[in-house]
Amino acid sequence: MLIIKTYKNEYSSFLKKVNLKRILLYFITSILALVGLTLSLTFRTPAPTSKPDTDFVLKGILVFDPKTNRFDRLDLRFENSKIAEVSDSSSSTNSEFSNMTATPGLADMHAHLPPNNLLDLIPYFSLLYLSHGVTVLRVAGDIDGTSVPYAKDGISKNLFFGPKIFSCDAFVTAGIPRWKNSIVVESPEQAAQAVRTLEAKGADCIKSYENLTVPMIRALVKSAQERNLTVLGHVPFGLTYEEASIPDVQHFFGVPRPDSIEKNTVVHRGSDWENVDEKLLNDIVIFSKLNRIANTPTLVASERLLSFLDYDSALLQPSVLFMPRFFREIVWNPIHGIPAYRNLDPAYLRENVEKALRKKMRLVYKLFQAGAELRLGSDTQQPFVVPGDSLQREMKLFQKAGIPSEEVWNLATIKAHESLKNFDSFRIRPGTSPDLLLFRKNPVSNLENLSSLYAVVAQGRLYRKKDLDLLLEEHKRRFENPIYETISFWLGKIVLEKQTKEFQN
Ligand SMILES: [Zn+2]
Repeated sequence: MLIIKTYKNEYSSFLKKVNLKRILLYFITSILALVGLTLSLTFRTPAPTSKPDTDFVLKGILVFDPKTNRFDRLDLRFENSKIAEVSDSSSSTNSEFSNMTATPGLADMHAHLPPNNLLDLIPYFSLLYLSHGVTVLRVAGDIDGTSVPYAKDGISKNLFFGPKIFSCDAFVTAGIPRWKNSIVVESPEQAAQAVRTLEAKGADCIKSYENLTVPMIRALVKSAQERNLTVLGHVPFGLTYEEASIPDVQHFFGVPRPDSIEKNTVVHRGSDWENVDEKLLNDIVIFSKLNRIANTPTLVASERLLSFLDYDSALLQPSVLFMPRFFREIVWNPIHGIPAYRNLDPAYLRENVEKALRKKMRLVYKLFQAGAELRLGSDTQQPFVVPGDSLQREMKLFQKAGIPSEEVWNLATIKAHESLKNFDSFRIRPGTSPDLLLFRKNPVSNLENLSSLYAVVAQGRLYRKKDLDLLLEEHKRRFENPIYETISFWLGKIVLEKQTKEFQN
């Protein structure tokens, strides 16, 4: 009897324990599920509710051809994202698009995308580009190698909207690599091998980066040219523009002579231009012309750096407000932000950065006059350089430098597409899927009218700006969610520390 009773007691306490365990397990699982659900709802990227039109008619539009500087009044009928018919338009048409100015799509020739992580910013960045009329990106280095594959896949499947992407993929560099997605080379042979590796991976261009020696650069360029790939890049610290002779020079690095650069930092390399005189500018022009060197000066990155003169006001600029708060307040923070841009002296900004910018604009004009190749790129994610908006700013800086606005359009569209061999994007003929921007006011003669963008046709798909703007608002609401803000601040700090570990200078 006793044995049975004891057994019963033990059995019931065992049952209680099991129940307690079960309840506890159930409780924990529910909490985790709830947290997971909240997180996934908070982090869920707004999906496009409307699809772009693939069958539509653009009636009575004024098509601007930057090559011939002509406007043609046309009717364009699209079927299945391809032009089915092009006809001259009678001027009396009255339709949604009649009398709008159509230009080719813009190309940002020095772009970057954020990494693919929990914050899921790639769909938003892609949308920002598109909603500002940027239909083509040349990604000048995929920082951790995750962004371009994700962006290309999502855009091609219509999971989110964005431009057509050309990418240099990894940085070819020597010494300690600055970014995770780098191919570190130690000899000219390895530099040539890096090109073969990148070609096999499907890269569209080669990004020549830091610490490479002249023989390494020569081997890189030779190997790339044999494969019809453009080499764009930084003139490494310590070399002159002429010594490095990179086919597409970024940021005018190498123009100031190495001995006049105070420190090996990106800010000093880009802004210690005190000793750059008229003769040096002219020499650079002659050298560029003779060696067919193109330049992507990214003037806007220098101009936006000046926002640090009044950080509090910069935070309120409408374009800056497009960015999630952790970008504005962490990544671009003047004290704790990207290490290379921390604690910039206001006197240095005024004396060096601003004056260097003026000289760079002179150089842009001189290169233009001499007929040297120029590309418009913006170097997004540098402080206050906002996707899309930055390319429009770059266009205005080119015009301010003295280049007629029609020619700025030519450089930012046709010339850029030609250099990418992206010919289809501006051919107006049956069977093609062009990129076109439709403006209510003519932006060709007046770049201020870029703000009158009404619709974007990207690869033959029509997006109305108002729909893109609504989607942008949805993304912004997601960023402003307190849970997203808290987590993005925390995660943003970790990502920033991790990514810029080797970008202290
Ligand atoms: Zn860059």
